[in-house]
This record gives sequence, C-alpha cells and structure tokens, in this order.
Amino acid sequence: MKDRLEEMSRTATAAMAQTDSEAALQEVRVRFLGKKGELTGLMKGMGQLSAEERPVIGALANRVKEELENLFDSRLAVVREAEISRRLARERIDITLPGRRVFAGSKHPITLVTEEVVEIFAALGFGVAEGPEVEKDFYNFEALNIPKDHPARDMQDTFYITEDVVLRTHTSPVQIRTMLRHAPPVRVIAPGTVYRRDSDLTHSPMFHQVEGFLVDKHVTFGDLKGILTAFVTQFFSEKVGIRFRPSFFPFTEPSAEVDIQCVICGGTGCRVCKQSGWLEILGSGMIDPEVFKSVNYDPEVYSGFAFGVGLERLAMLKYGVSDLRLFFENDLRFLRQF
Ligand SMILES: [Zn+2]
Repeated sequence: MKDRLEEMSRTATAAMAQTDSEAALQEVRVRFLGKKGELTGLMKGMGQLSAEERPVIGALANRVKEELENLFDSRLAVVREAEISRRLARERIDITLPGRRVFAGSKHPITLVTEEVVEIFAALGFGVAEGPEVEKDFYNFEALNIPKDHPARDMQDTFYITEDVVLRTHTSPVQIRTMLRHAPPVRVIAPGTVYRRDSDLTHSPMFHQVEGFLVDKHVTFGDLKGILTAFVTQFFSEKVGIRFRPSFFPFTEPSAEVDIQCVICGGTGCRVCKQSGWLEILGSGMIDPEVFKSVNYDPEVYSGFAFGVGLERLAMLKYGVSDLRLFFENDLRFLRQF
C-alpha cells in the first residue's frame, strides 16, 4: 500500500511537470486527486489494513495529497504565467507602424453649390427660408396662378399624394408661405428638394432648386437684371456672357430665362450647348399681380421679382459633370473629388 502510494505520487509529480497549459494541468489533477481519482481509489483499500497500519498509511496518504496539491498550485502559477507571456507575444502591437488613414468625408457637390448660392445672395441681403416638401395644392399651384387646367398640373409631372396634397414640384410654394407670413419688404431665397414624375439622362424625379424673390415698393425689371447678373458673375466668372430671353411662367409677368455663355466651349458651339454657344441656367420674372392677390399684397403699391435655379444644373456646369445621375449614385470615387 505504501509502495503504491509513493508510486502514484511519483507518476503524478512527473505528469504535472510535463503539462504546459492550465487545461492539461487540471486534467492531471482530476486524474489523481479528483473524487474518482487514483488517490481515492487507493484509499478504498484502507479497510483491509490492520489497525496498526491504518494510521500510518492514512498519514502518508494525507501527506501525499497535500504535497500533490501544493505542487499543483505552484505548477498552476507557472503555467498561467507562461500562457500570459505567450499571449502577449502573440498580440504584440508594433506601435511604430503607420496607422490606417481615416477618410474624413466631404460635402456633396449639390451641398457645396447650395451653400455657395446662399452665400452670394446673403451678401446681397437675402435671408433663407424653407418649407415643407409635402405641400398643399394651394401653395404649390393655386396661389401661384397655376389654374386647374395648366399642363404643369398634369399627372405626368406631379406626384399626387391626395387630390389636394402633392410632393412640391418647385420651391415656389415657399414664396407664398413667406409672403403670407411677412408684410413687404421681403428679400428671401429658399433652397430645397423638389419632385417631378420625370426620369431620364437629364432628368431625375428628385432634384434641387433655389427659389429667390424680392418684393418692395418700386422694384423694377432693372433690379431683377442687376441682382441676377451679380449672382451669375460671382458664381461663374466676371467674364461669362449673360443674356435675358423672353419666356413664360404662370406666376411671373413679364418672364425671362437667363442664359450664360457656354462654359464648355466659351460660346463657339459644342455638344453641351447644342451648338448655340448659350446655356439656360434659370427662370425669372416680375411677380404676377395675381400672385400678390393670393397673399394679400397690394399690387398697386408693391412690385417684385422671383427666380428659380436648378442646383444640379449649376453643379454640372460649374464642375463639368456631364451625367446628372452621378449626383445620386453615391459613388465614392466621384464624391471624393469634391
Ligand atoms: Zn458649348
């Protein structure tokens, strides 16, 4: 019995010394010292011993158990230490390596153009107004002198939500909302998103406009020309040619479209300007007296002008972008250039 205990002690000691992980060490412990382990197995033979032998072997068994437990504890500390060292070596970080560059993002070209337009008009004394994109028929059409049978109301062009509610087709309803809230003089620009049922190479069902208008006593077409010329020359260049061409809008009278000399060919004619040398960039005109009546301004006392600019168009011309869809595809290779 004594020999077997000592034999077991030697085997267990050797086994523990060979372990190199906590899991392996625990296995050895269970094998020798566990409830169903070898030591317990040996102790079951105690009953067969004589009364003199029993306390001697019992004491020896306790000593062996204690020794093995101490050995286990010290080996456990060694194995854990080694595991930590291995892990540190494995997860070592070379702090001298250069870090990965974080791309900070940049503003979308439409945002850039919007901000520039707002800035130019702010310097001319214009405040900024905004309005809802889901708009009542009254603000989008009725108050702007667009009668029920006007082609702009055709289901082809307008997204109707109900018979009386639409996705605004232009930023002009902000003009009505502002004039209803404020007595003249007013001098406001209103950038925003607009919607039309139109989608091809040069049209998107969602796009952006800036609406601008100025109402006061004695405002003339000369003021319109002066303000818009100032805007165009600041936005494009001092040298760009500009012309006003008669046009028609239901909410202005007289109306004019503004062309600039083609920024691609400089006016000699190319594919972009369809060989004309000119590019249309905005619509404008003197606000129709009918519009003033819907907002309770006295057309005998006040006059004013309004204009609308497509922001995608401005961005395309300013940055030389030939495909409208690039603005909405969110291709980072495109967007990172701005
Ligand atoms: Zn051209």
